[in-house]
Amino acid sequence: MPHSQDIDVANSPDLESTYECLLCGKLVKSTTHPGQCDCGGEFQNWGNSLE
Ligand SMILES: [Zn+2]
Repeated sequence: MPHSQDIDVANSPDLESTYECLLCGKLVKSTTHPGQCDCGGEFQNWGNSLE
C-alpha cells in the first residue's frame, strides 16, 4: 500500500514548463513547446524568462 503520493513532481520523468500566449494570455503547462495558440498567438516559455 503506497503511503507517499504527495510528491507528484518526483514521479515525473519530464518537467513541465508553463507557456503563456503572448496574444491572449492563455496559460498552458506542457513538457514540450505547445507551438501556436488557438488564437494564433505565440507561446512564451515562462521558465526561460525567470531570472
Ligand atoms: Zn492565445
